Amino acid sequence: MAAIQLGEDLPAGALSRAPKQEQLVTALKTGSMEHSVLSEAGFTSPVIKAVNEKGFIEPCAPPPPKPWVKGFEITEEKPKLNHEQAMAVATINANSEFGCYLVEGVTGSGKTEVYLNLLEPVLARGQQALILVPEIGLTPQTISRFARRFSVPIAVMHSGLNETERLTAWLDARDNRAAIIIGTRSALFSPTKQTGIIIIDEEHDGSYKQQDSFRYHARDLAVLRAREENIPIVLGSATPSLETLHNAQSGKYHYLTLSHRAGNAVKAKHGILDIRGLHLEAGLSAPLLAEMRNQLSQGNQVMLFLNRRGYSPALICHECGWLAECKRCDAYFTLYQNYQELRCHHCTAQKPVPHQCEQCGSTQLMSVGVGTEQLEQQLETLFPEYKTIRIDRDNTRRKGALENYLQAIHNNEYQILIGTQMLAKGHHFPNVTLVALVDVDSSLFSNDFRAPERLAQLFVQVAGRAGRASKPGLVLLQTHHPEHALLQALVQKGYQDFSVNALTERKQAMLPPYSYFALLRAEGFDNEQVEQFLYQARTVLDASPFDDDECATLGPAPAPLARRAGKFRWQLIFQAPNRRLLQQRLTIALPALLQLPLAKKVRWSLDVEPQDMN
Ligand code: ADP
Ligand code: ZN
Ligand code: ZN
Repeated sequence: MAAIQLGEDLPAGALSRAPKQEQLVTALKTGSMEHSVLSEAGFTSPVIKAVNEKGFIEPCAPPPPKPWVKGFEITEEKPKLNHEQAMAVATINANSEFGCYLVEGVTGSGKTEVYLNLLEPVLARGQQALILVPEIGLTPQTISRFARRFSVPIAVMHSGLNETERLTAWLDARDNRAAIIIGTRSALFSPTKQTGIIIIDEEHDGSYKQQDSFRYHARDLAVLRAREENIPIVLGSATPSLETLHNAQSGKYHYLTLSHRAGNAVKAKHGILDIRGLHLEAGLSAPLLAEMRNQLSQGNQVMLFLNRRGYSPALICHECGWLAECKRCDAYFTLYQNYQELRCHHCTAQKPVPHQCEQCGSTQLMSVGVGTEQLEQQLETLFPEYKTIRIDRDNTRRKGALENYLQAIHNNEYQILIGTQMLAKGHHFPNVTLVALVDVDSSLFSNDFRAPERLAQLFVQVAGRAGRASKPGLVLLQTHHPEHALLQALVQKGYQDFSVNALTERKQAMLPPYSYFALLRAEGFDNEQVEQFLYQARTVLDASPFDDDECATLGPAPAPLARRAGKFRWQLIFQAPNRRLLQQRLTIALPALLQLPLAKKVRWSLDVEPQDMN
């Protein structure tokens, strides 16, 4: 019985000999009341029970919580802002109208502290604050940073909520029962009515882009929403995306930097390991193994990054060169030794590891290349005295699994940590003093033009989180190309210099942010039909009156993964020098595309400003 309301009508004088009971009925005339409120008002359980038995009151659902009214208290001691923080806060707070602000600050430079200060005038005005964080960054620690500071209700929104929780959070945001809304990308669609500020933390993070069904980039849409609602938007990162940096450098966004680390954190050291000609054991060079031994023997943890799941990315016949290939995709099977299985990373196909070559019958099958599973196995053999843990998508699918592993790492239960980039994001490991990026070359020479940017972000993120004041961290990068210009800029001078170089390269190649792309993907079981559809689409687009010399249409061409799960995949790329022109071309073309007879026969989608060109 959470709350109580009036029951049967009270006949006059019926409770005249029980004044307390009569008072209870009178109190409830203004509406239902919660049990806790009644007890605070002095109505004891026996009183309530007695009136209940007489039928004059009855239990009911609790009344909806009251809307949050403006105002707040600061419920913890807050640090005095340093000069750069104070500048950032003053600049952003100077204006409560639309403006886009990039806050670039190394890890630990106090970006979160800036956000907290920005909330004060917003909450004081009775407005709500919308804060977006990357998928993996939404931890109880993040939420508690805000909950500790302000005495206001907070709603949390993420994909792990069940329907009821999602609805409650949504209603709390809409009906102003939550003053702060924190969530992952879809929280952008919170129906807050009096938003005062939008903050996007780690704005470069890939999880802000939804890659399927309704494709959108939460950061870009957030800028649009802020403009519509005429409120400031703050993008924070230690490693801003090249798109955002370009906007800041060109003056479209206000550019604020925090260059000093707050507190007593120290910068990690770093070095390039030239592995040309060196013997590699599970992809690790002798100098790296020696440094690992050195750090481990001092009781420290070491962390190795390798962005390749499984035991090895291919299985080859030693006699004839046959490679185990997925029948349904244009891709090789990944070998999983632990499961004695071949798995395709592009469809659901899997099968037991064959004993013989399918081409020549030889039994000499061997794995090529190293994945995280192999790294884990080999390190367990090389360092039997230490405990090894692997963290990747294969073993963290279960709800809560990642949190449990992270906790175990914090408790020092493991000394050697192996992971894909999943391990880098948002986690602080003070006892990790050595971080190695095992295979830098695959990022430097990837056919995805964003791969070097992601490598640089990973490098800076891990460098910012390794070690602590008394034990500075060391970050090592293994490469066959130590002289590579982007790598040199990154390691010698840092992310800012890297980004200048990378932006120059993008400009020369007319890649984003210097041009705007849309990707029309099509797939189907009939290869010719798919290709045909895109040829027709191209004709439609080329007929656009907005077409000019600066617009280009590339393709149709087979997608980088030309067949997936039995379907043939093709793509067509539209390029335009600016967003407006791209949108105009697409707006005109889309109705015509929908009319194409093949549009109903093949599966197709349009990805505007794709993050992933596959
Ligand atoms: P970031 O979000 O950039 O990683 P935080 O805001 O989390 O940085 O700050 C890092 C640490 O430094 C936190 O423990 C924070 O409480 C502390 N801190 C931030 N600003 C200050 C300041 N001006 N004075 C003292 N400590 C600060
Ligand atoms: Zn063979
Ligand atoms: Zn497959």
